[in-house]
Amino acid sequence: MTWMLVALVVAALWFSVRYAWWRPAIDWRKPRVLMYHMVSEPVAGAKFNGLRVSPAAFERQLRWLRDHGFHFATMRDLMEGSVPAKTVAITFDDGYQDNYTNALPLLQKYGAKATLYLVVDRHERDWSTYKKAHHASGELMREPKLTDAQVREMVQSGVFELGAHTLTHANLPTLDGEAKAREVHGARQQLEALFGVPVTSFAYPFGIFGDADVEATRAAGYSNAVTTVDGIDAHPYADPLRIRRVKISGKDNFLAFVLRMRSGRRGL
Ligand SMILES: [Zn+2]
Repeated sequence: MTWMLVALVVAALWFSVRYAWWRPAIDWRKPRVLMYHMVSEPVAGAKFNGLRVSPAAFERQLRWLRDHGFHFATMRDLMEGSVPAKTVAITFDDGYQDNYTNALPLLQKYGAKATLYLVVDRHERDWSTYKKAHHASGELMREPKLTDAQVREMVQSGVFELGAHTLTHANLPTLDGEAKAREVHGARQQLEALFGVPVTSFAYPFGIFGDADVEATRAAGYSNAVTTVDGIDAHPYADPLRIRRVKISGKDNFLAFVLRMRSGRRGL
């Protein structure tokens, strides 16, 4: 029987390290800002499946949030004063077409809201290479992106707030001041002109930014900006141009989602 006990202990240890279930929940008065990219089925052999949350998994997450009394907010909502405990802000980066075909109907079904960080010049552009030249697989470039008509409908539905993600998904710290301003401020101007709504929320592409990029974001008139740093910040925000998020990965199971809602990160 000893081997069974050993196996049980090993399994319990693995489970504990994998999910860090003992970590206490972060104060529920701190809003959770969730980061998504695509709501679509994984693609066999693809590199970026972490960015693909299946529609079934997304629906299960929305149902859990609703059934557990969470309040859905946009990033602008988070900037307009206090929010109730258990507030969640769902965000989507880049502008994949499935945000319209798959995410919008599910968000409507569960009475949820979200913020879309749209790249202005998003079609036929392989921005993975701006981070690392050897990422030239074209995988994300081939993913269909939202058309302007789809974005308009998403915004007019009242479900989505429109936020900016630069003109070209730029790697901001590599740009000089002028190019930085064009990417950050230009994106806001173009989105506002195209869609006729105020754009005050921003996401740093790749989550890569330095102090000069934060300043460019402030100078461009954004009231808030999100990063890809894992975490859950106190609210109202001490530094609303460096808001941390909770990564929702297509590679995680449902238990991992619930634990991330509690602690903001996965495992150890
Ligand atoms: Zn992005």
